[in-house]
Amino acid sequence: MSNAQIFSSSLNYQGDYPCPVCRLGKVSQMPLMEAMSCDFCQEIFTVNLELQQIEMPSRQPPLVWWWNGYKWNQAQLEGVELGCGYVVAAIAFVILPTTLIAIGAYYFPPDRNFPFSSIPYIWTVLTFLLHLSIIIWILIEVYQIPIGAYLRAINRWRDGIIR
Ligand SMILES: [Zn+2]
Repeated sequence: MSNAQIFSSSLNYQGDYPCPVCRLGKVSQMPLMEAMSCDFCQEIFTVNLELQQIEMPSRQPPLVWWWNGYKWNQAQLEGVELGCGYVVAAIAFVILPTTLIAIGAYYFPPDRNFPFSSIPYIWTVLTFLLHLSIIIWILIEVYQIPIGAYLRAINRWRDGIIR
């Protein structure tokens, strides 16, 4: 292999590439198929050599990455764009209800003799956590962060140590 090939290589079926999904595994061709798969998260990609792209068809719309000779660039989610408006909406979704409930709890504190007087504060924290977890869940869905693959790998790794 020449130096130029080590530092920059085009996308082809002979090569190994870092996995763009889990960023830990190696993506290589599946035997006898025009597809590649990751040895870590087992994600399967369809390959477009002409466009130097791989596509993850297991979600709709599919995720696409293109190979620039050195690393993957994530193409825009087909049909989905997470613009500034979504970020503002996501922050508002977490902050607004929490603030409303916190203001309510602050200005209308329950009677201290009431046995459940801490409920408004617990409620405020729960609101924040719940709304935050909804946003995190949406992000995981949109970007298909392979949490399952990470957990499986941790288990495999632990089994390897025990054996
Ligand atoms: Zn992977």
